[in-house]
Amino acid sequence: MSSIARWKISRNSFFSLMRHERRSKSSFPSDFIGFLSHSLPSLHISTNSYDLQTHGRGESHHPHANPYAVVFPFSEQDIMQVVKICSECSVPIIPYGAGTSVEGHVNAIHGGISMNMKHFNFIQVHECDGNITDPIAKVGAGVTRKRLNYELRHTGMHFVVDPGADATIGGMAACGSSGTTAVKYGTMKDNVLGLEFILPDGTFVKSGTNSLKNSAGYDLTSLMVGSEGTLGIITSVTVKLHPIPENIVNAICVFNDLFSAAEAVVHMKQCGIQMSRCELLDQISMSAYNKYNDSANQQGLIEMEEKPTLFLEFDGLALNAVLEHVNVARKICIEDFKASDFRFTSEEKERHSIWAARHQLYYAAIRYRQGATSAIVTDACVPLSKFAILMAETAEDVKKYDVIGPCFGHAGDGNFHCILPLRDDDSEEYISRLHTINNNLILRTLEFGGTCTGEHGVGYGKIEYLPQQYGNGCMNMMKTIKRSLDPRNIMNPGKILEF
Ligand SMILES: Cc1cc2nc3c(=O)[nH]c(=O)nc-3n(C[C@H](O)[C@H](O)[C@H](O)COP(=O)(O)OP(=O)(O)OC[C@H]3O[C@@H](n4cnc5c(N)ncnc54)[C@H](O)[C@@H]3O)c2cc1C
Repeated sequence: MSSIARWKISRNSFFSLMRHERRSKSSFPSDFIGFLSHSLPSLHISTNSYDLQTHGRGESHHPHANPYAVVFPFSEQDIMQVVKICSECSVPIIPYGAGTSVEGHVNAIHGGISMNMKHFNFIQVHECDGNITDPIAKVGAGVTRKRLNYELRHTGMHFVVDPGADATIGGMAACGSSGTTAVKYGTMKDNVLGLEFILPDGTFVKSGTNSLKNSAGYDLTSLMVGSEGTLGIITSVTVKLHPIPENIVNAICVFNDLFSAAEAVVHMKQCGIQMSRCELLDQISMSAYNKYNDSANQQGLIEMEEKPTLFLEFDGLALNAVLEHVNVARKICIEDFKASDFRFTSEEKERHSIWAARHQLYYAAIRYRQGATSAIVTDACVPLSKFAILMAETAEDVKKYDVIGPCFGHAGDGNFHCILPLRDDDSEEYISRLHTINNNLILRTLEFGGTCTGEHGVGYGKIEYLPQQYGNGCMNMMKTIKRSLDPRNIMNPGKILEF
């Protein structure tokens, strides 16, 4: 018998042994990793404890769950080989971008390996004599959004989806994420034209096209955007680019109460005011913002009144046209909703300091509660007509349950976050009050025809709410898709769906 035939027999019996031992033997993880490195000697595999810990938790408050190992593939070929071995041995694979997700998405709750995509770091644009000819870029899944925009800086174009965190484009596609700019440019679902990905059976698939419209067949790109690593591993993403606006004006507007601020946003949108960002911070968020700026001694940041405040951005080709929108917005806020202050600026340094502070708010909100190390982060999104009432009722709940919970969010989309900071020594009773607030918020959201997650995704933190949001028809269809593409349930098991 040839050595190859002998190897095939031993490899096949190893697979069946592994499937059996996975359930029964505590040495399984190290045996499996030994087998993986022996089978793929050129693959970069890490089992050092720092890598295991950082890849087993993301930014969430959910219990950490380390993977057996972290693999760092360099090519599609590497991924296909790993996927085939994992599939044979029924070992989970958890794709990993930058680990900034907040609902336990990357935690290895059923064991398995984490697959870090950082070596997929290419950026391709269609260029002729230094000019971009098509407003698109094909980007490796591991490229972060800040790096993409840095590399594009000479082209006059940029990638617009901005979740604040420096996430990877692959992770953002996988979570269907968005952020402050969605009010004008939409979410990842609106900005991804095509994908390349590898299915759980090791097949390479290319979906979508380079054209800005496409009505051919099932929309597999949209199926993968928001699939959170449960259907396959994305290796590249073709995204839309937009021109960097010539003129940008930022405004800050202070209100006496949260309800009026939220209502003002609804009116501005109804009047057709074009905003590129529209963020609302409640009074506690403004205190957290000031306290964080003081303690971090951030120079150049403005001390703000501690009242509900709108942060607005307007952009466009001609300054006059932009200022027309600013003026109507000012009128609505001051005259119709009795805002006490409305300031605006087009000066670049001031603008940057306003948004730098807004982007730090997640960490400012956690630090606002002394000793807090993480937080339950809510992510409700409702029709605009219900936004004011939902945000005001949540702020009431925070008072009623006597906890710290700054509320802020993307008011122009009807999406906001209540950050409920957690300390390691919190009593069960305190934590249960936080969960009650989160649960009340989600139930109200669903009653209003909204969603339990506007941008963060389900991970395993929101699994229980999906059937309530969608009902049996949708849930069965999702399970059928998952089962047919991933019958062994190796792709990020225990996320989005439990079965
Ligand atoms: C301070 C802060 C602010 C934030 N603000 C926002 C916000 O405003 N809007 C918003 O949408 N989100 C926000 N987030 C959440 C987070 O940034 C997004 O969910 C982001 O999309 C995660 O990207 P990532 O690269 O970090 O992915 P990871 O956290 O590494 O992974 C997230 C999920 O995607 C999967 N995945 C990652 N890469 C791939 C791939 N190549 N193929 C298949 N699956 C993959 C993973 O398996 C996992 O399920 C915020 C987070 C923080 C910490």
